[in-house]
Amino acid sequence: MGALLTQDDSLLIEAVRDFARGDLIERDREWDRTETSCCTHLKVLYEMGLLGLRVPEAYGGLACPVVAYAHIIRELAACSASVAVTVAVHNMVALILHRFAGEETRSEVLPQLCQSGNLAAFAISEPNAGSDPGSAATRAERVDGGYRVSGSKFWVTNGVTGRWFVVLARTDNTGTSRDLSMLLLDANSDGVSRNMIKGKLGIRGSETAEMSLEDVFIPADRLLGQEGMGMRIGLSALDGGRIGIASQAVGIGQACHEEMVRYARQREQFGRPIADFQAVQWMIADTQSELMAAQQLIDKAAWLEQEGRDYTQAASMAKLYASEAANRIAYRAVQVHGGSGYVNEFRVEQLYRDARITTIYEGTSEVQRIVIGRGLRREG
Ligand SMILES: Cc1cc2nc3c(=O)[nH]c(=O)nc-3n(C[C@H](O)[C@H](O)[C@H](O)COP(=O)(O)OP(=O)(O)OC[C@H]3O[C@@H](n4cnc5c(N)ncnc54)[C@H](O)[C@@H]3O)c2cc1C
Repeated sequence: MGALLTQDDSLLIEAVRDFARGDLIERDREWDRTETSCCTHLKVLYEMGLLGLRVPEAYGGLACPVVAYAHIIRELAACSASVAVTVAVHNMVALILHRFAGEETRSEVLPQLCQSGNLAAFAISEPNAGSDPGSAATRAERVDGGYRVSGSKFWVTNGVTGRWFVVLARTDNTGTSRDLSMLLLDANSDGVSRNMIKGKLGIRGSETAEMSLEDVFIPADRLLGQEGMGMRIGLSALDGGRIGIASQAVGIGQACHEEMVRYARQREQFGRPIADFQAVQWMIADTQSELMAAQQLIDKAAWLEQEGRDYTQAASMAKLYASEAANRIAYRAVQVHGGSGYVNEFRVEQLYRDARITTIYEGTSEVQRIVIGRGLRREG
């Protein structure tokens, strides 16, 4: 794959790492305790350019290459899994707009995505459409000058503070996947209401919303691609999104690793640090090995995307492996802490809960296996 990161990439990753370590860890603990949205802290993220990471320079963004972007998401997640997913979803939407919006929409909205007050969200899931987004029931009826959209979206990350929503909706009723189209919705439009979903197990600083759309007008030029391309756009966005979630998982795993090592060195039993016991060393060795393996899978998938090659399977493999590894690692991190790992005074208790989402959203592990299996079958 050659050198994956340029010197500029490394400097940017280091700057984000320093910022995240200095600014996010304690805040993230507080967002978790109080179930408060990390969007209260968005201004700083905008100032750092993090909301314009995947926006091309011509539209005011940083045009960050995919491999470096994945490393940045990891560094954010090591300090706040909630901030990492907030940034990752926003940038995923930026990429969708760059690829599929008409030039007028692109030049109007992409520069805004780099400015405060313009958080983006991706709304394909519905109460009855999760792993099977093709069964989405939200309707977009053609009217003079655009569409009237009605329905409900569920589990929308960035869904309360967000302004720009990519929404999957049914523009036809022929019973095929070509019934679905992708539209860009300005949440300031009449007929939009959203509510925070509370009581999450982890990433409690990340906003998750349910959204209701009642006869919301969307102008015709906010159709992304063409009518009938909704599933194609959604699935291609998820390929990239999965690299982001895999990186989030590795970041959580990295934080677990650091907490484990710190605790194992300082906690003494039987007159010596528990780090001296081989059983504890093995947990740490397995953790570091899995983190390195996951990072290699992410780098490979990100490099393929960067090179413009097919990376669907590679992204699913990275997401499947990294997310499941993060859960094994979080389990070990609690184990190394013994009883202390079971109370929220210690960070591993939160990391254990935060890791859990990574095998669920942007396609469950079962869905990733389906994607990988299908690809392998196609290859014969
Ligand atoms: C915190 C959070 C944030 C989210 N953010 C977003 C967002 O920003 N935008 C968005 O659109 N969605 C979002 N989601 C939704 C998320 O992508 C879905 O929850 C996920 O795709 C699973 O869908 P589901 O919950 O309906 O589960 P279901 O699809 O009902 O699945 C339940 C179980 O059945 C299994 N299953 C389903 N189908 C199959 C099959 N064919 N073969 C084998 N097993 C199968 C699943 O793997 C799972 O184990 C979010 C969810 C959460 C919890």
